[in-house]
Amino acid sequence: MTVVTRFAPSPTGFLHIGGARTALYNWLFAKHHARHGDGGKFYLRIEDTDRARSTQAAVDAIYAGLTWLGLDWDGEPISQFARADQHRAAAERLLAEGKAYKCYCSPEELTAMRETARKEGRQRMYDGTWRDRDPSEAPAGVAPVIRMKAPLDGETVIEDLVQGKVTVANAQLDDMVLLRADGTPTYMLAVVVDDHDMGITHVIRGDDHLTNAFRQTQLYRALGWDTPTFAHIPLIHGQDGAKLSKRHGALGVEAYRDDGFLPEALRNYLLRLGWSHGDEEIISTDQAIEWFGLENVGKSAARFDVTKLTSLNGHYIREADNARLVGLVMERLEAAHPGTLAKEAQDRLFKGMNGLKERAKTISELSENAMFYDLQRPIPKGEKAQQHLGSDGSALLRDLRPVFDAADTWSDEALMAAAKNFAEAGGLKLGAVAQPIRAALTGSTVSPSVFEIMDVLGREETLGRLDDALAGL
Ligand code: GLU
Repeated sequence: MTVVTRFAPSPTGFLHIGGARTALYNWLFAKHHARHGDGGKFYLRIEDTDRARSTQAAVDAIYAGLTWLGLDWDGEPISQFARADQHRAAAERLLAEGKAYKCYCSPEELTAMRETARKEGRQRMYDGTWRDRDPSEAPAGVAPVIRMKAPLDGETVIEDLVQGKVTVANAQLDDMVLLRADGTPTYMLAVVVDDHDMGITHVIRGDDHLTNAFRQTQLYRALGWDTPTFAHIPLIHGQDGAKLSKRHGALGVEAYRDDGFLPEALRNYLLRLGWSHGDEEIISTDQAIEWFGLENVGKSAARFDVTKLTSLNGHYIREADNARLVGLVMERLEAAHPGTLAKEAQDRLFKGMNGLKERAKTISELSENAMFYDLQRPIPKGEKAQQHLGSDGSALLRDLRPVFDAADTWSDEALMAAAKNFAEAGGLKLGAVAQPIRAALTGSTVSPSVFEIMDVLGREETLGRLDDALAGL
């Protein structure tokens, strides 16, 4: 069987975390089957029929978010709005086949029907007024809507790959509108026609669409088409157990990028949020493609945990290629300090990256920690660093400077050995000696090893920064 999936976002806001996870699952499912000879395809369909709420900016944010996450789609993205003729044609066919009919009810009549249904405790709102009525009775000058003739009794059953078997009594579902009075297709019709025309075999989406799947199933049957297999995945919740919303800090994918998360970390996190493979936490994309299947999607809502995401991100930063990290850090530093970066910044970052990346959980943190490598002398000193450069610290630095200057090799090891000898001779701990050096070289009190930093900065810059500190700059 060829597996064809799709991601079908409505472009009314950013690509949020839940949408990104839905896209990821569809992408992985297609890739998994492609790898195993089932010709998997993953399509992108922009559900832009709501003209008032759809924006090009949101469409662009969806493209950008998916691209950043590395979720590439097959072919060109499809605009649902552009396919209105096909949607209309399907409704007209049902009409011609007697499986749909024109309904001329006025808004007042519909309101009255809703009221009656509510009073009688019926789910079925539309009472079928025009279902069997002779079209010749149509009121003059009223544009009708087209409704589907839904089955009146029996059940509609969905064998959902995540939710299991779900059943609804057909008596609960009324004759849905397919075409509005102005001829525009409804969402329900558009989704079914598009999924059919795109050859979608598996509809993987949030379980907020589960109830839609019943009517969509009825529509597939009426149209004489095969129903795709459904997999409705539980929504993501916040730490408090409520559906994830902006209140929980649920942001667009681009906000996570701006906060310094790596796409592979977010991908790994979203994968595990609702799907598992034994106890595996760190899962490469290659493994994810190999292992992904809908049978291991959890049935209950997962809780979004930014601490977990952050620690996963730290892991991926440590794994990341240094050149890539240097590029990401340079971008941020240039943006934060335009025109003030040292010309040696890039070389120093390359040399110092191994020490830096051990300590950062986000690219923002990494950039902040790396700042001291990139700034030109005299570098700014934080308040705590200033304290280490008081009279005792300065006295130490004054004595240390010639010790370093005399080092015959300017290396991490040689400088540390020199500082150790100096400390021992003065009855001091190495840490006590390191603190004012750190303050002078980085302007901060936390950093990678000061000897590594001296090695990266080189003799001239190191001595220059010590001199700046001694001169009170
Ligand atoms: N456009 C819908 C949404 O953004 C998805 C519809 C579907 O996947 O069938 O929630």
